[in-house]
Amino acid sequence: MRRRAGAVAAALLTSALTAMVQQASAATPTPPASPQPRSTVVNRALSAVAAHAGAVHGGAGQAFKAVDVQADHSGTTHTRMARTYKNLPVLGGDFVVHQDAKGTWLGVDQTLRQTPSVTTTPTVSAASAAKAAAKATHETAHGTPKLVVEARKGTPRLAWQVETTGKQTGGTPSRKAVTVDAANATVLVAAEQIWTFLTPRNARSGQTGGHAGTIGPKVTGDGQSLYSGTVPLETTAAGSGYELSDPTRGNTYTTDLNGGTGSDGPPMTDADNHWGDGTNNDPATAGVDAQYGTNQTWDYYKNVHGRTGIGNDGVGSHNNVHYGSDYDNAFWDDSCFCMTYGDGDGSLFSPLVSLDVAGHEMSHGVTSRTAGLVYAGESGGLNEATSDIFGTSVEFNAGNANDVGDYLIGEEISVQGGALRYMDQPSKDGSSLDCWSAIAGGVDVHYSSGIANHFFYLLSEGSGAKTINGVSYDSPTCDGSTVAGIGRADAEKIWYQALTAHFTAITQYADARVRSLEAAADLFGSGSAQYQGVAAAWSAVNVH
Ligand SMILES: [Zn+2]
Repeated sequence: MRRRAGAVAAALLTSALTAMVQQASAATPTPPASPQPRSTVVNRALSAVAAHAGAVHGGAGQAFKAVDVQADHSGTTHTRMARTYKNLPVLGGDFVVHQDAKGTWLGVDQTLRQTPSVTTTPTVSAASAAKAAAKATHETAHGTPKLVVEARKGTPRLAWQVETTGKQTGGTPSRKAVTVDAANATVLVAAEQIWTFLTPRNARSGQTGGHAGTIGPKVTGDGQSLYSGTVPLETTAAGSGYELSDPTRGNTYTTDLNGGTGSDGPPMTDADNHWGDGTNNDPATAGVDAQYGTNQTWDYYKNVHGRTGIGNDGVGSHNNVHYGSDYDNAFWDDSCFCMTYGDGDGSLFSPLVSLDVAGHEMSHGVTSRTAGLVYAGESGGLNEATSDIFGTSVEFNAGNANDVGDYLIGEEISVQGGALRYMDQPSKDGSSLDCWSAIAGGVDVHYSSGIANHFFYLLSEGSGAKTINGVSYDSPTCDGSTVAGIGRADAEKIWYQALTAHFTAITQYADARVRSLEAAADLFGSGSAQYQGVAAAWSAVNVH
């Protein structure tokens, strides 16, 4: 909510640094600051945290562990930290430390407001906590509950974390991390771990999967997709045929669940390396779209953001196609590091394997490996918007004439025409929010995402009427202001910087404004047109 002095100082200092670098680059092309080894960055971040314990609400019994490091062109580093208290994980205690190229402290982003100080002795038993979690979620509790410090809601307190599983509406699996107050058995937070494309809705469902992909020499084939025409595919020779597994992109592969509801299986195979026939008659066709979507998303993150794979570690994820029966959704599941796609029921949706859906699902994986935005309340809306923002950016970046870039989400899979979501005016779908208001934290995450989707459209393209790639838009503002766009190329970089270097697990909309301004300052300076654009676009969606 409030602007933290440290954060503002960070923005100012960082922008001064950026200005210096920009000045230098006017004379001679500046090579990127030589990146520090990760261990150096981590060690100096830990030292800085020790020296600034007050700023991070550090104190007795706490320990910190670096979980991600991001380095800017200028040499500024952003080290994401997880926190423990007396060896218990502190949920909502995560933070990002910013340091310049010399290691000077620039500030910290966090949502924690007070130093945790709790008893570590529960009065509620683990079994009672599991029972309370199952009752509240109408799901089944699994495994052994773990003690944690719950700091995402009000005063930090000791809690049991219970994993529950069940079904969401419409056959989507559910797996929740539920925290239960260890003093009185009150359920505190139930965070869904299965991140979907759409609000789960009614349809039917069906059965199971198998094992993992192989590694072999790459072979170039092609496929006839449903939505993207004939596309090139890198595959792997296996036996007398080929497997749909791409050794050039971390061995990303696609498996055919054939109506099952598992989460893995062998890669799809083909005899002549010409996959699919462009229709649903051939089950390989949806596989072509899914694999192509993964390729384009991999290439987008690599070429635009310098990120190699979802985890930035070169490791590929996998796709499951033909999930269940008439299943009208798609989802990311971090536990299998995989994307799962339904075929749709044929009257609402055709197979949910279009480019923007694939980009949406993989981007959930990127969020889970960076900011870790909790999939509930406003942070859940920001998580969903991140997937729409990068899903649409993947589509633009692919430059495919059969599925041109647009600010519509799911237009290819909608049987009845139109799109599932509209970034220029999210309320056109009948449910999404155009503007922030106090209800934002209480609506489905696929509707509160509208606020950030609208922000991103305004930031990229500006308000009012505009036609792009043959698609007409007319974006209103919530305050009647006129907003000028800064272009999608800069907007997507700012959002990525915000996600990876500034957002934390329970970032809310007001925090997102402050932190995306910090991101704009990192990249372009705080006196830049881009910085001003971010401020104007947030104001235009009522986020102040
Ligand atoms: Zn989603």
